[in-house]
Amino acid sequence: MKETAQEVFQKDAKDYLPVFNRYKIVLDHGEGAYLWDNTGKKYLDFLGGIAVNVLGYNYKPLVDAISQQAAKLIHVSNLYYTQPQADAAAKLVELSGLGKAFFGNSGAEANEGAIKIARKYAHQISPDKSQIITAWDSFHGRTIATLTATGQPKYHEGFGPLPDGFDYVHYNDIEELEKMMSDKTAAVMLETIQGEGGVYTPENDYLKKVRALCDTYDALLILDEIQAGIGRSGKFFAYEKYGIKPDIVTLAKGLAGGVPIGAFIVTDKVAKAFKPGDHGTTFGGNPLACAAANVVLDTVPKPEFLAHVEEVGSYFKEQLQELQKKHPELITDVRGTGLILGAELNSSEHGRDIVNDCMAEGAIINCTAGNVLRFIPPLIVTKQQVDTIILTLDDVLAKYDK
Ligand SMILES: *Cc1c(COP(=O)(O)O)cnc(C)c1O
Repeated sequence: MKETAQEVFQKDAKDYLPVFNRYKIVLDHGEGAYLWDNTGKKYLDFLGGIAVNVLGYNYKPLVDAISQQAAKLIHVSNLYYTQPQADAAAKLVELSGLGKAFFGNSGAEANEGAIKIARKYAHQISPDKSQIITAWDSFHGRTIATLTATGQPKYHEGFGPLPDGFDYVHYNDIEELEKMMSDKTAAVMLETIQGEGGVYTPENDYLKKVRALCDTYDALLILDEIQAGIGRSGKFFAYEKYGIKPDIVTLAKGLAGGVPIGAFIVTDKVAKAFKPGDHGTTFGGNPLACAAANVVLDTVPKPEFLAHVEEVGSYFKEQLQELQKKHPELITDVRGTGLILGAELNSSEHGRDIVNDCMAEGAIINCTAGNVLRFIPPLIVTKQQVDTIILTLDDVLAKYDK
């Protein structure tokens, strides 16, 4: 029997570990860029399950591939081969121009694997080459190693002792990175575009300079594209926008359109650091997840799909800039590229209220880093849907204008 929202909230409060600060709706089903809650209220979704539902909800080819695969085989372990996994790996290697792919179940696991292989690779050069440099305000996951990689002290507090060998620099500050690097640096790990930290894109050829420093010190460049990859920037991999190639790239979120998956892809040179037994997973890359990933990998990289992201993204950014002109006190910056966009608020005072007010008006958006409205919608959103979000925001923001 279908329960009321109140009943679901009560059950959750009693039985679910209270780690999420949830919004008070119970979601029931979706179609395209729309979601419906269990009271029948409709929402235009510009969060997309946090950059996951790249093809929107109830996308028929994805639902069909999952259903057909589930009827054949959901899981067999990695002691055997399956075609969906081999196909998905081949597509990722081809798209990235790197050498070998590995599948896990989440972003954190993808980054954990990337850190492991980078350390193993560097240890072959020298036993004390182990330093991993990451950025302040980054987000890399919630396992002990990936929360250590995450340059946000609030995620570290109370979880020590944390693993050694992680250092932090300010994103976009090439001089600080240069000072910190040495022959002891195993890897520099960065989000190509910082998502959770507030939507920051690389400036002034930053990534090209990072690439050059990594080459100087024989350190690996790990790019975390868990949020910014899978077409979100308008290129399949965001690094393609910045004219560089990493040694390792990690993916997750949108990779299987909503089915849990993570992946890291490495060059052939790096791949040689791992021998059988050095890494593994029970579920990772199972045929169900890979069948879903194959639909995404057959759809998103198409030039017309990426051109749509680019076009709607630029239009959206212009509209956000117009919105900033109308509310200059409230919106202090608009940034991002493709369909990963942010509008910075003058303070964190009203971030959550604005998100709640939009929700009441049938629009799902997100506020990250306390004061950055973040837009990471399904990549299939249209200009008309952008107009709707902008109208809603305009209405809501008016309430907070002084
Ligand atoms: C979401 C995210 C992660 C963590 O992914 P999970 O699937 O939640 O473990 C890591 N890095 C970035 C950039 C992310 O956005």
